[in-house]
Amino acid sequence: MHSGHLPRQLGLSLPSPLQRFTPDWPGAEKVTLWVKRDDLIHPIISGNKWRKLSQLLAENASTAQHIVSFGGGFSNHLHALGWCCHQLGIEFTALIRGNYSASPTPMINDLCHWQANIRYLTKLDYKKRDDPDYVEQLRQQYPQALIIPEGGSQQSALSGVQALLEECHTTFDQIVTPVASGATMAGLIAGSNESQQVLGIAVLNGVGYLENLVAQFLPETADRRWQILHHHHHGGYARTSSPLLDLCEEMRQRYAIPVEPVYSGKVFFAVKQLLAQGYFAAGQRILLLHTGGLQGARIDPQGTS
Ligand SMILES: *Cc1c(COP(=O)(O)O)cnc(C)c1O
Repeated sequence: MHSGHLPRQLGLSLPSPLQRFTPDWPGAEKVTLWVKRDDLIHPIISGNKWRKLSQLLAENASTAQHIVSFGGGFSNHLHALGWCCHQLGIEFTALIRGNYSASPTPMINDLCHWQANIRYLTKLDYKKRDDPDYVEQLRQQYPQALIIPEGGSQQSALSGVQALLEECHTTFDQIVTPVASGATMAGLIAGSNESQQVLGIAVLNGVGYLENLVAQFLPETADRRWQILHHHHHGGYARTSSPLLDLCEEMRQRYAIPVEPVYSGKVFFAVKQLLAQGYFAAGQRILLLHTGGLQGARIDPQGTS
């Protein structure tokens, strides 16, 4: 399933660039590194969020009247989807975890600008976002709407992620990606071949939990050519450390690859450590997926977050 004319309609630059990456990091000289710059697909739509939404939007863009979805106050998913809906003339309702009405984030301000309906959910209600009874209740409230899970992470997300591998006319031994809801990693596993390994960098504290999230999207018979590393989350989701922030700065200044500390920064930091430890076999060809997400790192104007 291809996304048809939508990329042009939305002004996306596809395929995204595949760049060689040659940092002067210890161990980097033994392998070949590439970065798939999905952060450059579009200034507003963050990389992997477009990939995950592409099939769903291609199937529904001309018929959907209203889309409802979930996310946090800095959500890259709500941001990407809100903008797509605005461009496509589809009503959009964002169900946001927590109440930011007193100090909306830059992401929420953008959504307002794009005429989205904003609804703040208590953290307790937000927890029910995948609960079938709760979703049924929402369906009754929004009978015309397409309800999309948090992060756009559903089965149809995988084919859009696979498409990014089809754009690469090079072969890799390892494909490295951040993991949060697992759909991006599952798409990479589905799109890779037997001779490739997919390496996930957990961006939150979730040993076992993240493996289950990834596996739920894959056929039970899928062979286990993938692994998630759990020592690179810097204390949990959206937690940072000063070495991580320094690395984000180094990536921007020295290598002209802007990264943020929630997802892509953790991947580059992890790779730098793994190279130093000799984790990768000499001669390996390694693809780092830059999943975008720079909007989520904006500071809110009131400085309250
Ligand atoms: C959402 C997001 C991820 C995580 O992707 P999952 O499919 O949820 O694992 C990684 N990077 C960025 C920039 C994101 O916005």
